Amino acid sequence: MRIGIDFDRVLFRTDEFKEEVLFSEIENFQETYSKIDGVYSPEKHAEKLGISVKKIMESLDKASEYLYEDIKLLEESEHEFIIVTRGDPVFQEEKVERSGALKFVEDHVVVQEKSKDVKGIEFLVDDLEKEIEDAGVEGFHFQRPDDSVKDLLEFLEDR
Ligand SMILES: [Mg+2]
Repeated sequence: MRIGIDFDRVLFRTDEFKEEVLFSEIENFQETYSKIDGVYSPEKHAEKLGISVKKIMESLDKASEYLYEDIKLLEESEHEFIIVTRGDPVFQEEKVERSGALKFVEDHVVVQEKSKDVKGIEFLVDDLEKEIEDAGVEGFHFQRPDDSVKDLLEFLEDR
């Protein structure tokens, strides 16, 4: 089965990354953290902070330290996993790439306004129930720390 899997808070420790890297390494990051139409824009944020976009992008150097270890299990699964993540096309793309997640999945897509039913996925794993509803496919509402990739794979086996 072709399965879409979310990135933030499912495969990536997003809250820790924000707290330990973005908020602590870039002065006033948290206070000025802005969302435009629900999607983060590094350009607008850098402008607000009076720093270069490069400085924000450099923070992604540490992204690989924030990948959940159990992502490795996806590679051994008989299912085809595609990361479907919502975010700024440049920042999110870089974040996913530099995290090292891509070697464990078949493909990845960064969406902005559209729903997550892309690339013919038949199932969606996401920590946001609304994403599953909007995609109009069956799904698994994934909540760490209660759920792990192992739990997900066991759930899929029983189907
Ligand atoms: Mg998420």
